[in-house]
Amino acid sequence: MPERLKAYVYRLYPTRKQESTLLWTLRRCKELYNASLEERTAAYKMAGISVSYGMQADQLPQVKEVRPEYQEIYSQVQQDVLRRLDKAMKAFFRRVAEGQIPGYPRYKSATRYHSFTYPQSGYQILGALTSHDKKGKKTCRLKLSKIGHLKMLMHRPIKGSIKACTIKRDGDQWYAVFSVEQAVSATLVHLSNKTVGVDVGITSYATLSTGEQIANPRIYRSTEQQIKEAYRRLSRRKRGSHRRSRAKRALTRLYRKVRHRRQDFLHQTSHRLVNQYGILVFEALQIPNMTARPKPKKEEAPTTTEGSEGGATAGAATHYLPNGAAAKSGLNKSILDAAWGRFITLCACKAEEAGGMVVKVAPQQTSQKCSGCGVLVPKDLSVRWHSCPTCGTELDRDENAARNILRRYELQGAIPDRKKGNPTRKVGRGGKRPTATGVL
Ligand SMILES: [Zn+2]
Repeated sequence: MPERLKAYVYRLYPTRKQESTLLWTLRRCKELYNASLEERTAAYKMAGISVSYGMQADQLPQVKEVRPEYQEIYSQVQQDVLRRLDKAMKAFFRRVAEGQIPGYPRYKSATRYHSFTYPQSGYQILGALTSHDKKGKKTCRLKLSKIGHLKMLMHRPIKGSIKACTIKRDGDQWYAVFSVEQAVSATLVHLSNKTVGVDVGITSYATLSTGEQIANPRIYRSTEQQIKEAYRRLSRRKRGSHRRSRAKRALTRLYRKVRHRRQDFLHQTSHRLVNQYGILVFEALQIPNMTARPKPKKEEAPTTTEGSEGGATAGAATHYLPNGAAAKSGLNKSILDAAWGRFITLCACKAEEAGGMVVKVAPQQTSQKCSGCGVLVPKDLSVRWHSCPTCGTELDRDENAARNILRRYELQGAIPDRKKGNPTRKVGRGGKRPTATGVL
């Protein structure tokens, strides 16, 4: 039976003492990460040797001799730190090989190192879902080797077998993330045989081919003022002061609130859609392109400077011209706030669990085409209404697009999933092979 990985996240409530142990462990992990990055870099620069994960893992016992405090950290947690670095290095070399902007792995500061992982053992859930605290919530203990028994709120039971446990800090809160392997039933059939086209947009979050509109929550936008105010307060505080760190905590809390509210919205919306429809059809979006930062535009520095600058070296100063970044960031914020990519992924995961599926069709001209007769009706982004001069169809712009998306699936089937490199699922009812470039 095929299997899938799923993450369960539970809030932890460490005592003060436990929290300081957790923070201490995080700091040691960060140090280990930075030291092994330094070793790899130095060995390569000086001797041209590329240090591997295995070589570094073999040194861990010696590290413990020189730095006895590392005996206080579970050894698999330390191995996982080295494995993280190994992954970062491999990703770097892959980017180099593919000719992308490589970005060498960076040294981590305390503010950039938030979690450590028990990859196989060293953790145990005690008293799961048996004891209840006063509010009727399910509390239990998470036993972590070398750290202790932490109070954990297990708001839902885990289905499947736990493969790893990651302890994560999020500002002043702590979480345990369990990677769980679940069996996927191949015989599960969705109760609904309905198929729906979904068009995602900025005006409304999503529009279905049935005409239903899901309003955009604009979560970041609504807290934007508060966040701006929190930043202003932070900037007024003296560096290193207690009041500054308090202001910083307030800001982290605001961001966490935004994040959690966005997650709630995405989970609820995707859950509802997946329950209602057996097949959800989306356009294949290219969000990374849509939100890419515009490239900086450099002004060519004059090659000769005539006296007046007092002998300034030629070409030393580079001026940057307006590149439209400010204008684009407004739209970027809306697009990222909307988090469609994550929404579609969530739909796909939930659909899989419910026996349904998510498919994607080619995105070309879904909003320009008339869903009634197929004629092209060009309109720019500001035109919200589709009105067809040929067949007289009158429709909301996004609903028209959603209908086109549904029809494209019915006629041509889904396009191949880029990540897996094979067709997502079977072809549509028309029975034709999917063609990515085909026109409706
Ligand atoms: Zn028409």
